[in-house]
Amino acid sequence: MLGWILGVIAVFLVFGFFRMPIIWWTLAGGLMAVYLSVIAGFDTLGNTLLGVLFVIFSAVLNISSLRRKIISNRVLAIYRRILPDMSQTEKEAIDAGTVWWDGDLFSGKPDWDKLLATPAPHLSAEEQAFLDGPVEELCAMCDDWEITHERYDLPPRVWQFIKDKGFLGMIIPRKFGGMGFSALAHSAVVTKLSSRSNAAAVTVMVPNSLGPAELLLHYGTDAQKNHYLPRLAKGLEIPCFALTSPEAGSDAASIPDYGVVCKGVWQGKETLGMRVTWDKRYITLGPVASLLGLAFRLYDPENLLSSKTDLGITCALVPTSTPGVNIGRRHLPLNGVFQNGPNSGKEVFMPIDWIIGGPEYAGKGWMMLMNCLAAGRSISLPASSVGGAQALARATGAYARVRQQFRTPIGKLEGVEEALGRIAANTYMMEATRVMTAGAVDAGEKPSVISAIAKYHMTERARQCVNDSMDIHGGKGICLGPNNWVGRGYQVLPVGITVEGANILTRTLIIFGQGAIRCHPYVLREMRAAKEMNGEAAAIEFDDAFTSHIGHAIANGVRAFVHGVTSSRLAHVPREGAPETLHYYRFTSRLSAAFAFLADVSMMAMGGALKRKEKISGRLGDVLSMMYLVSAMLKHYEDQGRIREDLPLIRWAARDAFYHAQQAIDQVLSNFPIKSLATLLRWTIFPLGTPFRPPLDSRNQECARLVLEPGAARDRLTASVFVSKSEKDATGVLEAAFLATVACEPLDKKLRDAVRSGKLETRPGVDTAAVAHQLGILNSEELQKWQRKEALRKNVIKVDDFPQDFGRAEILQKLSSETVKAKAA
Ligand SMILES: Cc1cc2nc3c(=O)[nH]c(=O)nc-3n(C[C@H](O)[C@H](O)[C@H](O)COP(=O)(O)OP(=O)(O)OC[C@H]3O[C@@H](n4cnc5c(N)ncnc54)[C@H](O)[C@@H]3O)c2cc1C
Repeated sequence: MLGWILGVIAVFLVFGFFRMPIIWWTLAGGLMAVYLSVIAGFDTLGNTLLGVLFVIFSAVLNISSLRRKIISNRVLAIYRRILPDMSQTEKEAIDAGTVWWDGDLFSGKPDWDKLLATPAPHLSAEEQAFLDGPVEELCAMCDDWEITHERYDLPPRVWQFIKDKGFLGMIIPRKFGGMGFSALAHSAVVTKLSSRSNAAAVTVMVPNSLGPAELLLHYGTDAQKNHYLPRLAKGLEIPCFALTSPEAGSDAASIPDYGVVCKGVWQGKETLGMRVTWDKRYITLGPVASLLGLAFRLYDPENLLSSKTDLGITCALVPTSTPGVNIGRRHLPLNGVFQNGPNSGKEVFMPIDWIIGGPEYAGKGWMMLMNCLAAGRSISLPASSVGGAQALARATGAYARVRQQFRTPIGKLEGVEEALGRIAANTYMMEATRVMTAGAVDAGEKPSVISAIAKYHMTERARQCVNDSMDIHGGKGICLGPNNWVGRGYQVLPVGITVEGANILTRTLIIFGQGAIRCHPYVLREMRAAKEMNGEAAAIEFDDAFTSHIGHAIANGVRAFVHGVTSSRLAHVPREGAPETLHYYRFTSRLSAAFAFLADVSMMAMGGALKRKEKISGRLGDVLSMMYLVSAMLKHYEDQGRIREDLPLIRWAARDAFYHAQQAIDQVLSNFPIKSLATLLRWTIFPLGTPFRPPLDSRNQECARLVLEPGAARDRLTASVFVSKSEKDATGVLEAAFLATVACEPLDKKLRDAVRSGKLETRPGVDTAAVAHQLGILNSEELQKWQRKEALRKNVIKVDDFPQDFGRAEILQKLSSETVKAKAA
C-alpha cells in the first residue's frame, strides 16, 4: 500500500511537472486502479465499484460535453455571478497593448531560448551620429544652474537649437519631415539629455511621448497628419497634451471636462462643431504650447453626430491661439523648470474636424490614449531615470574618491561603499531594462504591463540612487548652486514618480491587476466567455480555457514544489546561456512557477476582491517585476558579449531581486486571507524554507570598486552620460579631479611614507608637498602634478555661497538687458 501511495505521488509529480494531457492522467489512473485492486485484494463488488468510479471520472475528464454539463457550466455560472462588471474604459485599458516576455513569466516556464534569440537592440549609424553630434552639443549648451535658478526656463538659444535640430520630431516619420528614429534611439537621446539637464530632457521627451504627434500618427486623418506633423517635426508647433484635471488625476477616465456637439459660426460659416469647457492642470509644455491636445467627454444631445448622447472621451487638437483658450500660467514642479502649468476654456467653439481622427473618432479617445500609452511609458521615464542614475554613478564614484575623511577616500569607508555599490548595481540593472524594453517596442510590441514595470521600478531605483548619492555627498549635495550636481536631481525626482501613472497606483493596481488578466494564458479567455459570449459558444470556450487553466495551475504548483526540493536543478535554462549566469535563469524559472501558482490560487481564493486587496496584488506585481528586471540583465549580459568585468553588478542586482521577490511572496503568504491555504502554499513554494539571501557584502564592494576606478567598466556603466570636457564646468572639474586623484595616489603614498619615516613633517599652514620637493622627496614634475590635483580637489569640495538675495537682482538686470537687446535686434 505504501508503494502504491508513493507511486501515486510520483506519477502526480512527474505528470504535473511535464503537464501531461488528460488522456495520460486517465491511463495512469486506470493502471493505478488495477494495481490498487490487486494489492488490496478487492472482491468482485469492490472491483466493480472501483471500475465504475474510474469510468465516471475518465468520462467526465475526457468527454467535453459531459465535462461541460457536470463541471464547467456550473463554474461558468458562479464565474458570471462573482466577476465584477467592467466599465468600457476598464475594458479598453485591459485590451490595450501587447503581451510579450511578461506572458512567459506568467506562464511558469519562461522560454529563455526565445528571449535570447531576439536580436540585440542597436542604434543605426545615423542615430549614433545624432547622439554624438547634436545631442552632445545640446548637453554642452545646457548650464543647469542658469536654467533652474537664473532663467527658470531653457535659454532662448537652447530652445532654438532643440527646434532647429529636430529634437521635437524624433518619432515623426521622415516623410513628414521628422527624424523617424527607433524607440531605442529616442530613449538614448532622452537618457543622455537627462544626465545633463532635466528641463532639456523633459522638453524633448514630452512631444515624443504620448501626445499630439503619437496620436496623429496612429489615428489622425490625412489632412491632420499633412498639416500638423511637418510643423511639429520642425518645431513650428510646440505641443502639449492635457488630460489631468483638478478632480481627475489618477482616475483620469472620470474627467469632468466636456464638450457638446452643436452648430456654430466658424470663420464666418455655419459649421458643425463642439462647445468645450475644460479646466486642466499640471500640463507639461502647456504654458508655451501652440497646439493643445485636449481630452474631454463629448455629448451629442441633439444627435447631430450619432444616435448616442454620451459619446465618451474624445481627443481634439486645439491651437492655443483659439479665442477662449486660457493658457500660459505656470506651476513650479519642485524647481524642475520645464514648462508646466494649467489651462482652461469655457464653452470654446471648435470645428468637429479638430477631433483627432475626425468625427468617426468621437468617443474613442480613451482607447486611443490607452493604446498609445505603452510605447511612451516604455521609453520616457525609464530613459530619464537611467540618465540620472548613470550620471549619479559616475559623479558619486568620482566624488567618493576625491573627497577624503579620516585620511581615506570616503568611497573606501564601508558605510559609503554600501551605498555606492548599490548605485552601481542598480544602474546596470536599469540600463539593461531600458535597452530591452525599448528593443521590444522597436520589435513592434506595445507592452502595456512591461511598460508599467519599467516605469515603476526605474523611477523607484532612480529614487534609491539619488538618495544614496545625496547621503554620500553630505553637505555638498545639500547646498544648491552651480557646483552642486546632485541636489536638483534629488529635488525633481518625485516628478517621475508621479507622472504617467503615479507609482503607488502603478504598483498596486496596474502591474499585477492588468498582468493577471492580460498576461495570464487563460484568465482573459475565461472572462470573455463569461461576460461577452452566450450559449453554446460561451460554454465551449469557457470549458476549454477553464480545463487548461486547471492543468496550468497544477503544473505550476508541482513545478514550484519540485524546484523547491531540488534547489532549482531541474528548472529550465537556455541552451546557449553563459555558464556563469545559468543559475540565475534557474532561479527565475523557479520563481516563475511559484509566482504563477500563487497568482492562480490568490485569484481563486479572493476572486474579484483581489482588485481591492492592493497590498497583496502590489506584492504579486513585485515578484513579476523582479523576474522581468533579472531577465533584462541576463539578456543584456549576453547582448554585450558576456563581459565578465560586469559580473559583480549582475550578481548583486540579481541576488537583490531574488531576495525581494522572496520577501514579497513571504508577505503575501503571511497576509493571505485563508490561513490553511497559505500554509499549503508555503509548503509547496518553500518546501525546504526560503532559499534566497540578500547580496553579499563582498559583491557590494566589487560593485563600488567599479565606479571608484577609472576604466572601461566605469565607462561602460555610464556610457550614456554627457561628460563635460571643460574644467569650468562642475562635472568637468570633478572628472579631472578624479583622474588626477587616482594618478596622484602613488605620490600620496610617497608623502605618507616620508612622514612616517620622519623624513618629512606636516604642519598646519605649510605646503607639505613643496617642502617634500625641497627635500628631494618629490621631483618638480611630481610636485606640479600633485599641486594640480590639489587645486582640482579644492575646487570639487567647495560649495556655493550667495549674497542675501541669492543674486536675484543681478540676474534680473542681466535678463532684462538681454530682452532689450533681443527686441532691438
Ligand atoms: C510635473 C507634472 C507633469 C505632468 N504632466 C502632465 C501632462 O503633460 N498632461 C497630463 O494630462 N497630466 C500631466 N500630469 C498629471 C499626472 O499624470 C498626474 O499627476 C497623475 O496622474 C496623478 O494624479 P494626481 O497628481 O492628481 O494624484 P492623485 O490621483 O490624487 O493620487 C494621489 C495618490 O493616490 C494614489 N492613488 C490614486 N488612486 C489609486 C488607486 N486606485 N490605488 C492605489 N493608489 C492610488 C496615487 O498613486 C498617488 O500616490 C503631470 C503631473 C505633474 C506633477
